[in-house]
Amino acid sequence: SFIIVAIDGGAASGKSSTSRALSARFNLLHVDTGSFYRTMTAELLRVGVSADDADGIGQAAAALPLDTAIEGRRASMCINGRIVPDAEIRTSEVNANVSIFAAVPELRRALLDYQRNLAAVAREHGFPGLVMEGRDIGSVIFPDADFRFFLHADPAERARRRAAEGQTDSIAERDRLDTSRKTAPLACPEGATDIDSTFMTLEEVVERISGDLAT
Ligand code: C5P
Repeated sequence: SFIIVAIDGGAASGKSSTSRALSARFNLLHVDTGSFYRTMTAELLRVGVSADDADGIGQAAAALPLDTAIEGRRASMCINGRIVPDAEIRTSEVNANVSIFAAVPELRRALLDYQRNLAAVAREHGFPGLVMEGRDIGSVIFPDADFRFFLHADPAERARRRAAEGQTDSIAERDRLDTSRKTAPLACPEGATDIDSTFMTLEEVVERISGDLAT
């Protein structure tokens, strides 16, 4: 009885805090797929592949030796055996470019099996399940997940949350790009539970989801 929990939502919608809390509460492997797109973007920028070179992106991405490090309950992507640290993937340059690269179907395809395989990785490590957060988890990666949620919040509230973290991040622009792209656009997956967290605390959101998971 391995469970898969999919959490989708826009930038700064509360996905990461919620997923971390669910991971701790139910001992689930926590997978932040946004960090994968950020890691790939940092690497593609580093080697100088341009965002409008779809074939180049596909080839560069497919050639990268990817694997996964598990630290505590968190899964991190490794390139050449190295976790690309937060200091390199949460820069304003990556913030400004990640949605442009993430819109390229060749990049999404290169990450598809890698993401799906994390269910097997979680099992091998003895986890009773995983919680995976992103933009297309309940729609593309695990459409048959046991639980699928979509978090949203008023843009002003999301900007306030990000500013409180001290980050420069154009969340409105990323959401615009993520929503309007042709491949796997950001949207509440059909049949998923839509939660508006604008007037909810983190604890309330976690309680709401935990109620479903506990049954
Ligand atoms: O979750 P986070 O805000 O860190 O994600 C960074 C970017 O990665 C998103 O704005 C989106 O462009 C892309 N992304 C995606 N699909 C996912 C996760 C993230 O396209 N499953």
